[in-house]
Amino acid sequence: EKQLPLTLSLKEEIPPGEEDPILISKSGCQGFCQVGPLVTIEPENILYTKVKPEHARDIIERTILAGEVITELLYKEPQSGQSCKNHEEISFYKRQNRMVLKSCGDIDPEDINNYIYSGGYMAARDMVLNKSPQEVCDIVKEAGLRGRGGGGFSTGRKWDLALKQKSPDKYIICNGDEGDPGAFMDRSVMEGNPHSILEGMIIAAKACGGTEGQVYVRMEYPLAVRRIQKAIIEARKSHFLGENIFGSDFSFDIHVMEGAGAFVCGEASAMTESIMGRRGMPRVKPPRTAEQGLWGKPTVVNNVETLACVPLIIRMGADAFKKTGTTSSPGTKTFALTGHVANTGLIEVPFGTTLREIIFNIGGGVLNAKGEIDNNDFKAVQIGGPSGGCLIEKHLDIPLDFDSLKSVGAMVGSGGLVVMNKSTCMVQIARFFMKFTQSESCGKCVPCREGTRQILELIDDVAQGRGTQKTLTLLEELCETVQETSLCGLGKSAPSPVLSTLKQFREEWDAHIEMNC
Ligand code: SF4
Repeated sequence: EKQLPLTLSLKEEIPPGEEDPILISKSGCQGFCQVGPLVTIEPENILYTKVKPEHARDIIERTILAGEVITELLYKEPQSGQSCKNHEEISFYKRQNRMVLKSCGDIDPEDINNYIYSGGYMAARDMVLNKSPQEVCDIVKEAGLRGRGGGGFSTGRKWDLALKQKSPDKYIICNGDEGDPGAFMDRSVMEGNPHSILEGMIIAAKACGGTEGQVYVRMEYPLAVRRIQKAIIEARKSHFLGENIFGSDFSFDIHVMEGAGAFVCGEASAMTESIMGRRGMPRVKPPRTAEQGLWGKPTVVNNVETLACVPLIIRMGADAFKKTGTTSSPGTKTFALTGHVANTGLIEVPFGTTLREIIFNIGGGVLNAKGEIDNNDFKAVQIGGPSGGCLIEKHLDIPLDFDSLKSVGAMVGSGGLVVMNKSTCMVQIARFFMKFTQSESCGKCVPCREGTRQILELIDDVAQGRGTQKTLTLLEELCETVQETSLCGLGKSAPSPVLSTLKQFREEWDAHIEMNC
């Protein structure tokens, strides 16, 4: 929404008679939040950063009409001070591989023609007209696509399971209920390239025999809701949604459901309950949602980024897709890079990229308490949000993928990366995440409802000077019990930040206790 005044200012500065050759177009997020708002001048490929409405006249008169590059608006590398003219010269961008995010900063998300001109809807058309459902499942299985929402389950196998269910009605849900603190990957894709998600859903529907789709978006994302709604209307007008799409005998339509913002509704069974108008609470499985979900019918729930990957896989082919990433985790992953790092923003890197590359090169280095770049001040990175864990210096060179992170007690999660310097208190970090999950617990099962509350009380005891070594032992035991006995992923993963900081930073917990003695 902040782009609007700038877009208007630029339009207002175009001199009479020059309107036709100059096109001012808004795009989605270009990812480099640290230096936004960004303006890209095409075809010269110039990137201006930290642009304000008062720069509009200069941009039109000096750059667009006179061809001058305004050096004050160029990005300067923080370490070398070198001015960069475009994305390709900036280390934040040049070390990424933006596949899912590529069009987010390029196309106007509110104009379907922009998406179509970039090759959009061709993959869905090809699948609907030329492939059987099993063939579509097989392509995605062959590509090795794994769910980007956190679990990393094989998307093709999930579709296969839904395809095998005998039911005249099947549902496809796009999970846009991103709620982790510090995460905004799905939001950016929904706002920046909504048609890629709709196209992914059409392909998923063809693969599973889906008859209706729902995009579940939290109401805190009003721009995403508006752009997806607009995209659906435009796709219907173009006969990409509705009856007999692409002139075939296949019919599929999509609706938007606004969630009220409960974190637990990101869990598939809670989400289906919420869509049906009930209280969003997970249920015991089996049956899995792919067997019995919305209205008791087979329902596939895929994350935003997962669905946005699907048209890419069809366009490039499974083999080409597998060339990026690692053997067990092909493709790329988007991360929201935040915290004590020079370049915050939305990034996309191949699976297998190391934290060292992400934090020190793409992120531009660690910021110390004075706000200066000082890589020796790196302390930890929280990966995977409130369900994830802390990684430290010894993990900086691990190639990041679903399996390598699991092996060190962390998880990709939805993709939040919060970098912390040495001024960060890890007890307070554990408390922050536990407070979040405790307040988001739906209360259905005792271990999570009562356990998270008691864990928080124990952390408070330590933080406020009432803790002893016995408190820490109790804390560990309680965390393990909540992990093992909670009903859904929220409760099972809620203790992870506490356990992980206890493991990596035990001396800090001990210091809190010793200070009290
Ligand atoms: Fe609800 Fe927590 Fe139990 Fe999940 S683990 S069902 S969020 S109480």
